[in-house]
Amino acid sequence: MDGKKLEFKGEEALRELERLTTNARELQEAILRDIISRNKETEYLRKYMMGAEDISKFKSMVPIVTYEHVQPYIERISNGEDSSIISGHPIVEMLRSSGTTRGKPRLMPSIAEDLDRRTYMYNLLMPIMSKYMPGLDKGKVMHLLFIKAETILPYGMPARSVLTSYYKSDHFRCREPDPFNNLTSPNEVILCPDSRQSMYCQLLSGLIHRHSVLRLGAVFASALLRSITFLEQNWRELANDIRLGQLNPSITDQACRAAMSHMLVSPNLTIADEIESICNKASWRGILVHLWPKVKCIEAVLTGTMAQYIPMLEFYSGGGIPLVCTMYASSESYFGVNLNPLCHPNDVSYTLLPNMAYLEFIELDNGLRCGNEEEVQKEKVIGLVDVKVGKYYEIVVTTFAGLYRYRVGDVLQVTGFYNNAPQFKFICRRNVILSIDLDKTNEEDLHKSITVAKEILEKQNYLLTEYTSYADSSSVPGHYVLFWEIKLMSEKLESGKAQSLVHPELIEGCCIAIEESLDYVYRRCRTNDRSVGPLEIRLLEYGTFEALMDLLISQGSSINQYKTPRCVEPGPALDLLNSKVMGSFFSPKDPTWNAGL
Ligand code: AMP
Repeated sequence: MDGKKLEFKGEEALRELERLTTNARELQEAILRDIISRNKETEYLRKYMMGAEDISKFKSMVPIVTYEHVQPYIERISNGEDSSIISGHPIVEMLRSSGTTRGKPRLMPSIAEDLDRRTYMYNLLMPIMSKYMPGLDKGKVMHLLFIKAETILPYGMPARSVLTSYYKSDHFRCREPDPFNNLTSPNEVILCPDSRQSMYCQLLSGLIHRHSVLRLGAVFASALLRSITFLEQNWRELANDIRLGQLNPSITDQACRAAMSHMLVSPNLTIADEIESICNKASWRGILVHLWPKVKCIEAVLTGTMAQYIPMLEFYSGGGIPLVCTMYASSESYFGVNLNPLCHPNDVSYTLLPNMAYLEFIELDNGLRCGNEEEVQKEKVIGLVDVKVGKYYEIVVTTFAGLYRYRVGDVLQVTGFYNNAPQFKFICRRNVILSIDLDKTNEEDLHKSITVAKEILEKQNYLLTEYTSYADSSSVPGHYVLFWEIKLMSEKLESGKAQSLVHPELIEGCCIAIEESLDYVYRRCRTNDRSVGPLEIRLLEYGTFEALMDLLISQGSSINQYKTPRCVEPGPALDLLNSKVMGSFFSPKDPTWNAGL
């Protein structure tokens, strides 16, 4: 980052944004020069640049890579080797990404000053919001923030999520009081490792301060919706605590109890009555503005895979206040901010800041491919300020902490420029077809897990003839649905007896086997975070997939190239599948998960 200043107030922040976006090209060049100069003696850069420092050599000699290429270096550092093999500054922790490779979460290197970069970006958000919503310093913020389990690598380095790292850092815990970010949740409650107790106390804090909350939200929409469902299940207990001025005995975490005792100093019958009468209503449409009447906006990431939650949040917010997506970030680097926070989530573009990392872009065709997926042609890779409006790109990042020309896996489309900095719409994660929370399942992962289930079916003389899938977010938490057509091996295809004869235990066994073979993050979301519900298999009438093919061809798919889609979206295809369901089976138990890698 150029300069060391992290904190900006009002106009000063807006001037900083003007400076950054106007000088995007120069700042990108400066950051790359700085990264090369600091890291040229690392084993990694020496291998490709032999100590040279020029930018042109970096672009011609350093390969564009995926995690498979970086993994051996990460493993060496995790096993005690000095981090100078990839970074000129000591790597202090590994950030556990929600992206996985061969079922395991990817670990991204991070150095101490990365916390400054994250703080810097957070500090730009409120001045941008205040430009459009004045008075946000006159009340409280109910942000539901959670940490996740962390592990210690063999030689003592922590491996944890980027948000866990941030909330545990002094940057967050010892922050200066800020009228724009006066959180309802005490730090102790955010830092409680038990997510149920944390959620209970955070909702309780928010309800106690219900008349002064101006903004509410969570980082991702999935977590916000989970909290609303939790509230639906627990509002009586929460109101009762406020009525008695006493914390529910099910909260056993001592730090939470101590922090909440400062808030529950005496019984508050008025607030308890208000909450009960609001929550007792038959419909929860607009519940968020009824419970928090001064709230001016709801904040959460609602772009990318989270867009599926827009209708539900519109329902709970009553549709009258803006849903705001403030930033785009990852474990690799924080990337950009939304300069137009009041726009609808479907129209959000992020302006990428040129002083976070060095950014490059692989041009994709309209099918969102870059030719040979593994080997990217050099001429298809361009710098941040050279991207073209309307085109699709995959983002590639080079960081101070030791990632060089690393493919993040996100697909973005350029929607315009702010000064000289491009603005991007988040399109999708490369290859991901199913996602409910932080889980990201691609076609290959799904296929592998289905193959395991197929073997189980075949041992019982059943054949899986066709399948597709759907991420069902109509319930909270959402869950994966697989649509299957099966037949008895001895049966003529068209007889369709199998679906009615099959034993439920057999299909439930398949649900278990599929969940066990899905990746680490999926199993963590299911078993630990409880942010994904049990997987469901819906057995279909014989001939449904043919009817699906007819439907899709009638909508323009080519007959010659027709392939069963491995995932469907809400719409006529899903309606057709749902109309042919003969039986539905859920996974009866949680898949195995342990915090160790
Ligand atoms: P992680 O590496 O687990 O921190 O996850 C980072 C990923 O989350 C990014 O690479 C994106 O795929 C996704 N993500 C983060 N912020 C946004 C956003 N604002 N909109 C859509 N997807 C996002």
